[in-house]
Amino acid sequence: MLEQEIGAWDSVLLEPLTEDTFVSNLHLRFKRDHIYTYIGNVLLSVNPYKKLALYSADLAETYFKKGPFQLPPHIYAVAASAYRWLNDRNEDQCIIITGESGAGKTEAARIILQFLVLVSSLTPEVKQLKDRLVQANTLLESFGNAKTIKNDNASRFGKFLDIEFDYKGDPIGGHLMQYLLDKSRITNLASGDRNFHIFYQLLSGADIHLLKGLKLQRNVEHYSILYTVTRQCTQSEEEDRNLYVYTRSAFDVLGFSVEEVVNIFRVIAVVLKLGNLEFVPCNNIDGTEGCSINNDYELYDICELLGAEHRWLQRALTSRQIDDGMSTDLSSCEATKTRDTLCRTIYGRFFTWLISKINELIKARHHAKRKLFGVIDLYGFECFENNGFEQLMINYCNERLQQVITLVSLKEEQEEIVKEGLEWTRIEFFNNFGICQLLEHENHGILSLLDEPHVHCDQTYLTRLEQCCAGHSHCLAGDPSLPPYSFQIRHFAGPVTYNARTFLEKNRDYLPRELSRAMYRCDHPLMQALFPEGNPKRCTVKKPTSTSTQLQVALNALLKSLSYRQPHYIRCLKPNELKQPRIFELALVQHQVRYLCLIATVQIWRQGYCYRLPYPQFLCRYKMLCINTWPRWRGSPIEGVSILLRSVPIPNAEFTFGRTKLFVRSPRTVFELEDFRKA
Ligand code: ATP
Ligand code: MG
Repeated sequence: MLEQEIGAWDSVLLEPLTEDTFVSNLHLRFKRDHIYTYIGNVLLSVNPYKKLALYSADLAETYFKKGPFQLPPHIYAVAASAYRWLNDRNEDQCIIITGESGAGKTEAARIILQFLVLVSSLTPEVKQLKDRLVQANTLLESFGNAKTIKNDNASRFGKFLDIEFDYKGDPIGGHLMQYLLDKSRITNLASGDRNFHIFYQLLSGADIHLLKGLKLQRNVEHYSILYTVTRQCTQSEEEDRNLYVYTRSAFDVLGFSVEEVVNIFRVIAVVLKLGNLEFVPCNNIDGTEGCSINNDYELYDICELLGAEHRWLQRALTSRQIDDGMSTDLSSCEATKTRDTLCRTIYGRFFTWLISKINELIKARHHAKRKLFGVIDLYGFECFENNGFEQLMINYCNERLQQVITLVSLKEEQEEIVKEGLEWTRIEFFNNFGICQLLEHENHGILSLLDEPHVHCDQTYLTRLEQCCAGHSHCLAGDPSLPPYSFQIRHFAGPVTYNARTFLEKNRDYLPRELSRAMYRCDHPLMQALFPEGNPKRCTVKKPTSTSTQLQVALNALLKSLSYRQPHYIRCLKPNELKQPRIFELALVQHQVRYLCLIATVQIWRQGYCYRLPYPQFLCRYKMLCINTWPRWRGSPIEGVSILLRSVPIPNAEFTFGRTKLFVRSPRTVFELEDFRKA
């Protein structure tokens, strides 16, 4: 097909380069179902919202065999490049997938995994591991994804999957890292949203005997945590039923025993039933307000499912210990809050347990020399009508990831070129460093303030936030235009107004001691693992780390580990807010193109270099390509490289000599050099 019909494969080739030509090119390609476009070695992917015949074993094989840029842009090409880097250069790799909610990150991560499954070998051991990795994904989506108004399969946790490969290029194990599950949706569903998929799958798909054993009814409306007044359930019951079959078989493939699966479903049933408990006010003999449980039969069911004693759990839910031996009754309102905390805690801790269990089942059995291939798929940037603590955490993750990408691919890239004495016209781009600082500043960052010892309630938090951040160019606080209890952050991807109510509670994530004790006493085999602090023999009670601090620490570790790897970027774009095929909203795409700094990325690629290596290392790796440098070059490394390059059939313009390093323009050249090496 002519270029006018399918657009440019690589935006670097666009002439002239403007935001309009860039977006028009994406649009033209989108209309022809060419959803992938390059900016150098960055892959752009526009969500088609329909199944395309773009993925198959044959095509994976083709991309695997051909060098990059010989075939149309494709996600398989990115996966193939990373896989080749891993094998040929023995370097750890990482594919970083970014984009807002619904842009296609999780789908992209799935396709990459599928590619690795298709191209590696098929020995029984490798096959078993590959099946497990794929099924681990199925489980994670069932338990960690949910429908939101932005995305019918929105990830409600961040995921970093690391696959270990041996020297033959076969996967030998995997490790999953999970970042902060949005467990608040367990008890607070926004209208139009659904809870985690697993609840609906279980109710629709489990056979009647299992449901009976779990003391559940098939009817979704029976469970208050699944039911919102305006719930528009686009997913059909049949779809949930089918997905239940996949989830169930994923457990089998991963090696969970039938008993373990039933125990997991018991936990799910307990969360559903706990959510149904109703507390009604009653007066104590001394005139104070207490409460009782209106539908005690649900609590009896819960106790049976957990192997708990009714009176223990009932007491833990309706009263609070104040001093040694003394307790006070909770009001119905307080008891309802306690119930919700318990629901969220059980599900959140269970999810963490599930990940560690999966990690045990996919970990490498032997310790051969390993190389790592990581895929990062976090939750995308979110802005709803009501944004709470979870949105702040999610958007914070996105800020940090964006920061790393701009730092590595735009800032450091340019700085190094200048330092090496190469000619360079500086390219400006938006740096979100200031927003990250606003959030993380050690003393008065929006996240740090949450942990201040004298901040005891949401109102004092807001007051502190106004004192410390109101003048910041990316923050609006204490402004009369804002709704009550709110503040606004101008994120790199757009402004978001957050309601600070319940921020402190969610950040501290405190579980009353009675509850952990009551849960620890249950016979259910998971409860002691989920509530270790409930062990009465444990006397040292460590102050728990707050949610935001945990996330910051985990993100720092993630980003640090990325700095030791060869990164590959996939930037997903969302063509419309309606989740519909064939609709390309120009303004929406333009907005994403702007905040993702895509035009600056193209400009840097037009002027820049894909690869660089210090002269001694370059010489060491490629000295066999020239009889004058093989087996040893005795002169200066820069001269050796210059002589070596004269003997390879690659145009001079591909290389530029810096002070200490050789710069290579296109990735194609790197792969050509590698091919010459192997020939
Ligand atoms: P979130 O941040 O909310 O988790 P996300 O970026 O992970 O969002 P996905 O769940 O991957 O978004 O994609 C949303 C939906 O878009 C998918 O469920 C699927 O229906 C569709 N989709 C995404 N990518 C593709 C693709 N390459 N081909 C076909 N459909 C796709
Ligand atoms: Mg996702």
